[in-house]
Amino acid sequence: MQDYHVAVIPGDGIGQEVTPEGVRVLDAVGELTGAYKMRYDNFPWGCEYYLKTGRMMADDGLKTLKEFDIIYFGAVGFPSVPDHISLRGLRLPICQGFEQYVCQRPSYLLPGVKSPLADKKPGDIDFVVIRENTEGEYTGAGGRAHRGLPIEVAIETSVFTRTGVERIIRYAYQLAQSRRKKLINATKSNAQQHSLTFWDEIFVEVGKAFPEVQTERVLIDALSARFVLRPESLDVVVGSNLFGDILTDLGGAICGSLGLAASGNINPERDYPSMFEPVHGSAPDIFGKGIANPIAMIWCGAMMLEFLGEKQSADLIMRAIKTVTGEGKVLTPDLGGKAKTPEVTDAIIEKVRAVAK
Ligand code: ATP
Repeated sequence: MQDYHVAVIPGDGIGQEVTPEGVRVLDAVGELTGAYKMRYDNFPWGCEYYLKTGRMMADDGLKTLKEFDIIYFGAVGFPSVPDHISLRGLRLPICQGFEQYVCQRPSYLLPGVKSPLADKKPGDIDFVVIRENTEGEYTGAGGRAHRGLPIEVAIETSVFTRTGVERIIRYAYQLAQSRRKKLINATKSNAQQHSLTFWDEIFVEVGKAFPEVQTERVLIDALSARFVLRPESLDVVVGSNLFGDILTDLGGAICGSLGLAASGNINPERDYPSMFEPVHGSAPDIFGKGIANPIAMIWCGAMMLEFLGEKQSADLIMRAIKTVTGEGKVLTPDLGGKAKTPEVTDAIIEKVRAVAK
């Protein structure tokens, strides 16, 4: 039996409601299969912690986290703390400090879930966005000058390094190779004539090692339209940090709810722990009502297990999720149901038990 040491950071808002649900499923599956045991340490970092201490995480937070096998993260952000502080104080230092340069976000239309797009059947939407996760538009390079004066100026520079671009594009090719062998380069090199032409060139160079993968170079504006008009044509999409961020909210939306969208921040070399978190944020509008959909968080648990090499356990969770949404009896309000958060988890655990038998 494998033993995993997991750092749990529920964070803010509904992150605090869905994280314990994900943990319940991980424990139930571990117990049933006997394949692994998780040992958890909880960290209270996030906006409440910031309001008390002036910091989003402990000063030695990265040093502490580095010792863990994996990080299970809820959500960060709350209205009382400016977004740039909450993002730059917790999630970004972890992704950037731990070289989690791959942000992997699957979009899959689950059985029983209604897409806002007409006539889509389960599985019609089935693609993965690979978002660059450590540089690009998120490096924070820039500044403001002449504050408060009429000549005030703000400059923010995107940073693309050869190493950074090559490694994310190579990962995307490898993933495409293992799937339907179709890869789209999300770009805007007509307007970003230095950084994204560089990105496009590297996309072609890296691709020489993957002759079986069919590629397309699609401008981000046209690609956004294609996500809505022809999502069936997508397999793997690779994009910069900002493009990937925007595309994956769209990916979550067309698959029926942001409450279903899972994500992994991955350090493929495993030099540092990787971190799994739902695409959605803290959703202050529904926080405290007990109606947050836990499926994205539970799906993140499955992605985390797969990354740890526990493929069978991960598949068990995914089958249980599909059965629960397919039956349509126990769903939270975002999917048109009346169930409370823990009831969905209970239903998933029950299906896991049934399948495991
Ligand atoms: P952020 O800026 O961090 O993305 P946000 O609150 O602006 O946070 P999200 O939290 O991503 O945005 O969510 C947008 C909306 O989607 C929420 O207001 C909520 O209504 C809905 N939503 C998000 N996650 C869930 C969930 N797990 N279950 C149900 N509804 C959700």
